Amino acid sequence: MNLTCDGETLQNYSGGKWVSSRSNETEAVVNPATGVTLAHVPLSTLEDVNAAVADAAHAFKTWSRVPAPKRARIMFSFQQLLVKHWDELAQLVTMENGKSFKEAHGEVLRGIECVEFAAGAPTLMMGNQLSSIATDIESGMYRYPIGVVGGITPFNFPMMVPFWMFPLAIACGNTFVLKPSERTPLTANRVAELLSQAGLPDGVFNIVHGARDVVNGMLSHPDITAISFVGSQPVAEYVYKTAAANGKRVQALAGAKNHTIVLPDADLDLAVKEIVGAAYGSAGERCMACAVVVAVGDVADELVQRLKNAGDELIIGNGLEENVFLGPVIRQSQKERATSYIEHGEREGAIVVRDGRNDPVSEDGYFLGATLLDHVKPGMKVWTDEIFAPVLSVVRVETFDEAIQIANQSDFANGACLFTDSASAIRKFREEIDAGMLGINLGVPAPMAFFPFSGWKKSFYGDLHANGKDGVEFYTRRKMVTARHS
Ligand code: NAD
Repeated sequence: MNLTCDGETLQNYSGGKWVSSRSNETEAVVNPATGVTLAHVPLSTLEDVNAAVADAAHAFKTWSRVPAPKRARIMFSFQQLLVKHWDELAQLVTMENGKSFKEAHGEVLRGIECVEFAAGAPTLMMGNQLSSIATDIESGMYRYPIGVVGGITPFNFPMMVPFWMFPLAIACGNTFVLKPSERTPLTANRVAELLSQAGLPDGVFNIVHGARDVVNGMLSHPDITAISFVGSQPVAEYVYKTAAANGKRVQALAGAKNHTIVLPDADLDLAVKEIVGAAYGSAGERCMACAVVVAVGDVADELVQRLKNAGDELIIGNGLEENVFLGPVIRQSQKERATSYIEHGEREGAIVVRDGRNDPVSEDGYFLGATLLDHVKPGMKVWTDEIFAPVLSVVRVETFDEAIQIANQSDFANGACLFTDSASAIRKFREEIDAGMLGINLGVPAPMAFFPFSGWKKSFYGDLHANGKDGVEFYTRRKMVTARHS
């Protein structure tokens, strides 16, 4: 295994070889639960990007011509290796990201599902024909890969988010250069080893570690034809605009502020369990996290009390320890940012019903307990901004219409959920909510790999979303052939 987690400097992966970055600049990769440095990540240079893209462009010449069923077979082998190394990968995710082992295990499963979907490439890439478009003339559409794809990913899903990109891109015949988050770069290196073990030819999958310079190098590189990005809203907007201005196909998945509406007829046992999982799971560092509960009518008092009680029960600690639910946030700076939002909320009039700042936690890691803010109003900073921490806001309203209106006022529109027993309320919600991924009586409505991950508004920049048939469209281009037979 290429990594020992003993503080070594990570290498890039290019053309099937582990290579040192040309840069001497590094950043510490810290286990957020312990503060221990696991590795150093190089802040690679433009030359490193150029070398990896050259390897990927070279590999594209042969890989794009490998028959689709043969490419799919490598995905099958890869899937088996991922299943075999499931626990090890989950441990790595917990160590570098902090989420509980159970959540990390689930994250690895989400990654495996992407590989399983990508293994359907021979079917997914099929074109279509019309035998007669005019006398003796037929027409057919064929799909081809697009070239070298660049993937840029966030810290919060070091396994799942890269898997939204490279398995499908590769199975469709493209080659890939990944720039993982500099805060969680370890899982990607292990994945590269498993891909090689699965029989993936050299140069098809490459990694360049680093930060902004690597991203800018990718966005302007003439041999990268498409960019898949997942990260925060300002960076997503920048990546989208820059890549598009440079003539690239681009999909940029961005931040979120997901609202969950609870109606008076909701099953509160279910609602509380699901909301707690969605708001505090992965320490709130999920783009599908529940950030705001909109409590309708007289459900509010009991709901808030029950959410507080459930927050009191959560076990905080190192995600590798048994029964721990709430791990640390990613860095001390993120903890400070979250606590400053809580202070700001208090100043603006929100009531801190449960104060995670007071939970007894290890001083070595970046822990913040489950925090519950009541009487939050639209327009307050804790309502407008993505906090990305275990901080849940409750907005109280009188009517369902008001609740929908408030959810729709958010600039973000990744997901929205509703808890109710009413079929007509469910229909109204589906028709009137402006968000791309809706949950009915569940907390995290993240679609599986065969459906698109379909954020709206400032939660997504581009046309074709990640995963599902959108993903196939994104990673392929069409050729129309019209032929006369006479
Ligand atoms: P981030 O935007 O800080 O970083 C994402 C990637 O962009 C990283 O690889 C980083 O190195 C790079 N980057 C950061 N700043 C840059 C800059 N100025 N110029 C060029 N590149 C830059 O995001 P993060 O903190 O790692 O991840 C959390 C964010 O990702 C949250 O906002 C979350 O909602 C979002 N996210 C969205 C989805 C989705 O599907 N919509 C999924 C996961 C995470």
